[in-house]
Amino acid sequence: MLTTQKTLLLPALKQYFGFTSFRPLQQEIIRDALAGRDVVALLPTGGGKSLCFQLPAVIRPGLTVVVSPLIALMKDQVDALRANGIAATFLNSSLEPDEARTRLRDLHNGRYCLLYVAPERLMLPGFLDNVRSWNPTLIAIDEAHCISEWGHDFRPEYRQLSQLRGLFPTVPIMALTATATERVRDDIATLLRLRNPAKYIASFNRHNLSYRVVGKSKAPDQTLAFVRERQRESGIIYCASRSTTERVADNLIRAGIRAKPYHAGLTSEERTKNQDLFLRDEVQVMCATIAFGMGINKSNVRYVLHYDLPKSVEGYYQETGRAGRDGLPSECLMLYNPADAVKQKQFINEKPDAQERDIANWQLHQIVQYAESAECRRASMLNYFGETYVDNTCNGCDNCLTPRATFDGTIEVQKFLSCIYRIREKSTVSVGLAHVVEVLTGADTEKIRSWDHKSLSTYAIGKERTRGEWSAIGRELIRLGYVRLTDGQYSVVEITDKGQMLLRQRMPVTLTVPVAATPKAERDVPACNDELLEALRHLRKRLADERGVPAYVVFSDAALRQMAQEYPANEQEFARISGVGQQKLREFGAVFMGEIALHLQTHPRKAFTQELTAKPTAIKPIGDSVLETLRRFRAGETVEQIAQARGFVTSTIYGHLSEAIANGESFDLDRLLTAEQQARIANAFQQTGWSNIVGAREALEGEFEYGQLRVYRAVHGQEPHMQRWGKQVSL
Ligand code: ADP
Ligand code: MG
Repeated sequence: MLTTQKTLLLPALKQYFGFTSFRPLQQEIIRDALAGRDVVALLPTGGGKSLCFQLPAVIRPGLTVVVSPLIALMKDQVDALRANGIAATFLNSSLEPDEARTRLRDLHNGRYCLLYVAPERLMLPGFLDNVRSWNPTLIAIDEAHCISEWGHDFRPEYRQLSQLRGLFPTVPIMALTATATERVRDDIATLLRLRNPAKYIASFNRHNLSYRVVGKSKAPDQTLAFVRERQRESGIIYCASRSTTERVADNLIRAGIRAKPYHAGLTSEERTKNQDLFLRDEVQVMCATIAFGMGINKSNVRYVLHYDLPKSVEGYYQETGRAGRDGLPSECLMLYNPADAVKQKQFINEKPDAQERDIANWQLHQIVQYAESAECRRASMLNYFGETYVDNTCNGCDNCLTPRATFDGTIEVQKFLSCIYRIREKSTVSVGLAHVVEVLTGADTEKIRSWDHKSLSTYAIGKERTRGEWSAIGRELIRLGYVRLTDGQYSVVEITDKGQMLLRQRMPVTLTVPVAATPKAERDVPACNDELLEALRHLRKRLADERGVPAYVVFSDAALRQMAQEYPANEQEFARISGVGQQKLREFGAVFMGEIALHLQTHPRKAFTQELTAKPTAIKPIGDSVLETLRRFRAGETVEQIAQARGFVTSTIYGHLSEAIANGESFDLDRLLTAEQQARIANAFQQTGWSNIVGAREALEGEFEYGQLRVYRAVHGQEPHMQRWGKQVSL
C-alpha cells in the first residue's frame, strides 16, 4: 500500500511541481487527505503547506476548495499554479462581473481542480449550493489560526467555517497554519469541529535561517553597511514606528538602494503599490512596521533585519520566518540596544488595561532574555514554543558559531549585590536597576543627593566600568536568578535567596561579555556562477513582466542558482532542476538553456561542488566553551553546578559534554548515571533505535533529560551529527 502510494505521488510531484522529494510530513498529510481523513497540519512558514492540498487536487478528479483570508494574495497563488499548468482559479470581489461569470460557468463544467475563495463568500447559502454541485473532494482551510481569538490575526469571518463539517459530512477538511502556540492549535480543531483529525506538527526549526544579535550603535550606518553587502538581494527591515520606517528608507534611498516604506499610515493604494514593487523585485528593501508581511508569499527574501527590538519572541519568530521560504540560506539580524527595552516599557506602562500591561511586560522580558542570552538562539526560540532542540550546536547562530567570551565576574557580582544590599539597608525606598548602576558608577543625580546615597560604602566603587556594562551585568544577574525584578509599573530590584547565599559565601561567578556592535557576518550562500545568475535573473524578469506575474512565479531563486551551477544543456538535464515540472520545461526550457549556451560562448565554464539547498555541517574543533565545561566536570563539579556557575541551562552543559565525547575526549559515565540507570537507557534505545531520542525518553517515562540520553549515546559512539527536521506527535 505504502509503496504504491509512493510510486504514485513522487512522479506527480515532479511532473506538476518539479520537485523530487517531499518536505517533512507533506507525504503523510497528503496520504491522510487522500484517504478521506480530516487533518490539522502545523508546518512552519516555508514548510510547504500549499503543496499538501495542491497535490491531491491535481491527481484525482473533483474540486479542491481552498479558503484563504488574503484576497490580495489569491491571484499570485493561482498564477503560480497556472505557470505549472494546473487548472486553478479564484473568486473574489476584485473580479469584473463578466470575468466572475465566466469562471462560475467553467466551475459548473468541471474545468478546474482548485478554487480559492474567501470565507465570507464560501459561506453564502447560494454559493454553498454551488460548491455542493461541483463535486468537492477536499476543503482546505489555509491560515487556519485566523479562527482563534488567541492568534495574532483573528478574523471573525473564519468563525462561520465551523458549519462546514456539518454541511459537507463526506468531504475531508484540512486545516493548515504556521502558528506555534498551543492555545491556537487547540482552538483550530475544536472550532472547526474536525472529526478525529490526524494532527501533524513539524519541527518549527527553520534550519536555513541563521540568527544573530549585534549591539546597536549608529544603527543607520550598520543598516546601510549590511544592505550594501547584499546588493542584489531582497530583504525586510522591521522598525518599531512609522517614522523610523520612513527614515530608514530615506537613508537607503539616498545611498542609491531601492527601498520603500510600508506602514499603516500610508494610503491603501500606496501600501499595495509598495508591496507589489517588492514582490516583483523592483524594490529591494522593504522598511516596514509589523503591519507588513502576514501571508506574504515572496520566497526569495534573503534577510530580515530588526532595526528595533521586537515586541515578543513569537512576533520575532513570525517576522524572521518571512526569510528563506525557498529553503536557501537566509539571515536574521537583530540590532539590540537595552535602551529600546526601556522605551518600550514606558509605552507599555501607559496602557490602561492591567492585564494587557502584564502580558506585554512579560513578552518584553522574554525577548530581552533572548537578545542577551549566550545560549543557542535556535534552541531558546524553539524552547519558547515547547519544542526541545537536541543538537549540540545549531551551527547557525552567533552564539554557536562564535561563542560569547566569558570573564570571571566574581568581584563585579560582589560589588553589585552589596550595593543593592547597602541601599536597602540605608533607605526604605525601592530602587530600580538604573539607580543601582548610578550609585555604583558614582553619578550625581537628584535621587542620589536627596537620599544621601553618596555616603554609602558602595558609592562609586564601580568606576572602572561604564554604566552600560553595569546594566548588562545587572541583567545577567537577573537571568542567573541572583537578582529579581518585581512586577508592576516600577520594577524594583531585590536580591533573591540564591543571591544572598552567593553574597555571603563569596562564590565564584562567570559572566558573559555583552553583545558588542560587530556588524560583519559570515555568509553561506551556495556558490554558483554569479554573472550567469545575473543574466538569468534578467531573463526571468522579462518573462515575468510579459506575463504580468511576480518573478518567482517563473522560477524561484533556488532554481536559477542551480542552473547557474549545473549549466543544463538538454531537456533531460533541465528537467532535473528543482522546480521544473512538465509545464515549465515546455514553456521555459528552451529560452533558459539558450541564455546559458549564450553565456558559455563568451565565458569559461566554472565547476561548483557545493550542494545547493543543504548547508553542510561544519565540523568544528571543539570550542573554548566546551573545554571549560569539560575542565569543570573533570575537576569534580556536577552538571548542575557547572550550569549555575556558567549561567547556562543544564541541557547546554550536557550538549558540551556530548560534543567533547564525540570529539574523542575521555569521559567517566559512571559519575553521571548509575549502572542500573545505564541498563535501562540501553534497553530503551534498543527498543526505539539510536536515532529516536524522543521515543527513548518517552519509553523511560521522561525520567531523564534529553541531555543525559545524548551523553549516553555519545559514549556509545552513536551521537549523530545533526538532526534537522520533523517529528509527528499527537496533540
Ligand atoms: P507555507 O505556506 O508552508 O509557508 P509554501 O506552501 O508557500 O509554504 O511553500 C514554500 C516554498 O517551498 C514554495 O516556494 C514551494 O514551491 C516550495 N516547496 C514546497 N514543497 C516543496 C518540496 N517538496 N520540494 C521543494 N520545494 C518545495
Ligand atoms: Mg502558506
